[in-house]
Amino acid sequence: MEAYFEHRKKLKKIGIEKTIEFTKEQKETVAKKVTDVLINSFPVLQEEYNNILIKLYNCNMWYAKVNSNLSKINYIYQNNSIYFDEGISVNSITDITIHEFIHYLQDFRTTKGKLKRMGLCNLNELSIKGLGINEAAVQYIASKAVKKTKTQINKCNITLKTISPNYYPIMTNLIEQIIFLIGENTVIKGVIENNDEFNDAFFNTFEENSQKIINNFDEIIELNNNIFLNKKNNYQELLASIYIETQDLIMKTYFEKQYELIENAEEIENISRKFDEYIELTGKIQIDGYYYNNCEIYRSKIKSKLDKKMIEIYASRSKTALTVIYSSRLSRIIQKIKSYFKV
Ligand SMILES: [Zn+2]
Repeated sequence: MEAYFEHRKKLKKIGIEKTIEFTKEQKETVAKKVTDVLINSFPVLQEEYNNILIKLYNCNMWYAKVNSNLSKINYIYQNNSIYFDEGISVNSITDITIHEFIHYLQDFRTTKGKLKRMGLCNLNELSIKGLGINEAAVQYIASKAVKKTKTQINKCNITLKTISPNYYPIMTNLIEQIIFLIGENTVIKGVIENNDEFNDAFFNTFEENSQKIINNFDEIIELNNNIFLNKKNNYQELLASIYIETQDLIMKTYFEKQYELIENAEEIENISRKFDEYIELTGKIQIDGYYYNNCEIYRSKIKSKLDKKMIEIYASRSKTALTVIYSSRLSRIIQKIKSYFKV
């Protein structure tokens, strides 16, 4: 009982005062709607339908008076519960609903009940790593699940397109770039099913720059919090420079690595096409009234490297062709000599 009151106090401290627990029917409605929205948008989760539905149904859901500076729906990991502001209908499923329920789904604890991992975010005694990249991926999934479309935004001197213009727009743009490069299904499974697919693909793709990219996402989220608290004056410049640095890291690491792996002409064409599609996702920074990024400069660099590689491949191909002709000619001569001696 003491623990119960203790917890109520803690909740109140963060701005949530719980009022009525959801009825069985309300829980069923929310669990079914959230599961349907997720599975319809991401068929890769189809096999998990029942698991997701049962898990969601078992979530503690409450109505609460929620402080206006908080989101209208909140997942509180300390007691594994979701609190809906009293005005929210269980029938309206928004990106906020999906976002918070994904956090509930990705809660992964040790046998002692300690939170160990949340999707792409790893927690240990000393540090939390990957909070930013996980938030970005969760918000991407939530926005896409409720069919939000891409919107152009201008923020902190940056212009970019994102599926989530109102919530973490800069980070969701960056995760959209990563998702385009390593594949959506891998990210979805890593985030919702808490498996290693994403981590493996991410570290294999971005290798020595993986940790730097993850840290930059964490820095962006930290800056976002400071913006709310008005702690830093130059946050706009800082945010813009971290964004551009991360974008450059993602682009260069990925395409340099793909370049090294090229084996034939078809792969060159695929990479070239992929770069043209990728560049459409990148954001630009405003300097002296002009928007620019390093991607166009890098495009001409990588394209000329790809052209050279293409010439090399064709040159070695015609060399092999010559060898084949030469050896067949040679074997004919040998045959002739052999037949001569037989005679
Ligand atoms: Zn979140």
